[in-house]
Amino acid sequence: MGKLLRYITSDGTVSIIGVDTTDMVAKAEQIHRTSAVTTAALGRLLTAASMIGVTLKGEKDSVTLRMNGGGPSGTVLAVSDSFGNARGYVSNPIVEIPLNSVGKLDVSGAIGKDGSLIVMKDIGMKDPYVGNVPIISGEIAEDITYYYAVSEQIPTVCALGVLVNPNLTVKAAGGFIIQLLPFAPEEAITKLEESVGKLKPVTTMLSEGMSIEQICALAMDGFEIELLDEYEVEYRCDCNRERVERALRTVGKEELTDILEKDGKAELNCHFCDKKYRFDADDLRRMIKEI
Ligand SMILES: [Zn+2]
Repeated sequence: MGKLLRYITSDGTVSIIGVDTTDMVAKAEQIHRTSAVTTAALGRLLTAASMIGVTLKGEKDSVTLRMNGGGPSGTVLAVSDSFGNARGYVSNPIVEIPLNSVGKLDVSGAIGKDGSLIVMKDIGMKDPYVGNVPIISGEIAEDITYYYAVSEQIPTVCALGVLVNPNLTVKAAGGFIIQLLPFAPEEAITKLEESVGKLKPVTTMLSEGMSIEQICALAMDGFEIELLDEYEVEYRCDCNRERVERALRTVGKEELTDILEKDGKAELNCHFCDKKYRFDADDLRRMIKEI
């Protein structure tokens, strides 16, 4: 289980959400068998989704983050519920590209910069809230910061990290999002720049044994903070047979009849958890009849 914490300064002007998503991203790697750079891309997006998820008000609310910048990874997508449990996928899980100029996994190179970051918040209204900003870096954290600045007018500091072991398993993953609320004093920004500027990368701190509490406290050095919420978060898919059947029905009567005649059955895999759903000839006949 990962741990997500949300704090606010005692004067109520700055909030921080921090999360350790090591287990969540490890699960994503096990399901999708991603290469190192796509593990980092998907892991960072899952981490961001988890933190944005807990800012949603309703229990059934969810957020979807989607990036496609024309790079070799194709679409990277992550969905989180309002308790920070996330799931996701990447259209091309295996991308092998050289490290970037600073010797790190080239997430920006995998995602590409020619496209957009779409943030879709399903908050129980007829239509979801959709924010759409151009990808400015492809490293994801900068893109989340840009999204908040442009679409929600909230000054935000975002850090996201995934450390992949040489055997492709996940060593550490996590991140934080700091936001200035209205009426934040001018000096709060200077103080934050100072404390955040001194921080090592989140994954370095996590792999050195620091807890997410300690990381949040260090990021907010010089501020008095109070814990608002604490969540245990994990990679979680809520797919079920009914929903998969509904998706299958959308191909239409003709196509279903075709499948029945040719294959006598249909098999669908969930994009998020790879669970297999089998529909035999009787299931198909029933669906055809009901459409
Ligand atoms: Zn699933």
